[in-house]
Amino acid sequence: MSIPTNGVPVKEELEQVIPPAEILAKGPVVVVECFQNIPCDPCAASCPSGAIQPFEDINNLPTVDYEKCTGCGLCIASCPGLAIFVVDINYSDKEALLKIPYEMLPLPKKGQVVAGLDRSGRKVADVKVARVQRTKNKTNIITIIVPKDLAMVIRNIKVGDEQNG
Ligand code: SF4
Ligand code: SF4
Repeated sequence: MSIPTNGVPVKEELEQVIPPAEILAKGPVVVVECFQNIPCDPCAASCPSGAIQPFEDINNLPTVDYEKCTGCGLCIASCPGLAIFVVDINYSDKEALLKIPYEMLPLPKKGQVVAGLDRSGRKVADVKVARVQRTKNKTNIITIIVPKDLAMVIRNIKVGDEQNG
C-alpha cells in the first residue's frame, strides 16, 4: 500500500495497523504505522519477543503477532521512520498511555504538560509527560498520558506550545 502524498495515513491504512479491540484491552501493545515498501527492517531485529516477525523480503511491511507483544517499547527507537508507538488504552478510566518516538530538542521533562499533536501536526490536546527515556541513538522515547478517546489520534508532541491552540 502506498502512502498518501502528504505523508498522513488515511483511515483505511490505519485500520490495517491498529490492533484488534481484544488485544488493546489486554494491556500495552505496539502499533506499527509503517505504510511504505522500502528496504528497512530493524524493527524486527529489535524485538526481544519475536512479535515483529522476521521479514521474508526486506521491502515488505512489518507484520506483528500481537499475542507475543509485551508493550516493552524497545522497537520504538529502532525505527528510522518514527512509525512505531505503544498504546496502553486502559491506563485509567479516562486516560491512555502512549509511548512515542521523539527526536527534537529540548526534551520535555517528566510531569511537564506539552501539546499533543495528531498525525498532521495539529494540536488536539494538552498532555502530560509521564516518562522520558534517552536512548543510544537520536530517537528518544517519551511516554505521555492522553485522553482515552485520542489514543489513536495523538502521535507527536510539541514542547513549549501547550498554551497555543
Ligand atoms: S513493544 Fe516490545 S514486544 Fe512489542 S513489538 Fe515492540 S519490542 Fe516487541
Ligand atoms: S523499522 Fe520502521 S520504517 Fe523500517 S520497516 Fe520497521 S516500522 Fe517500517
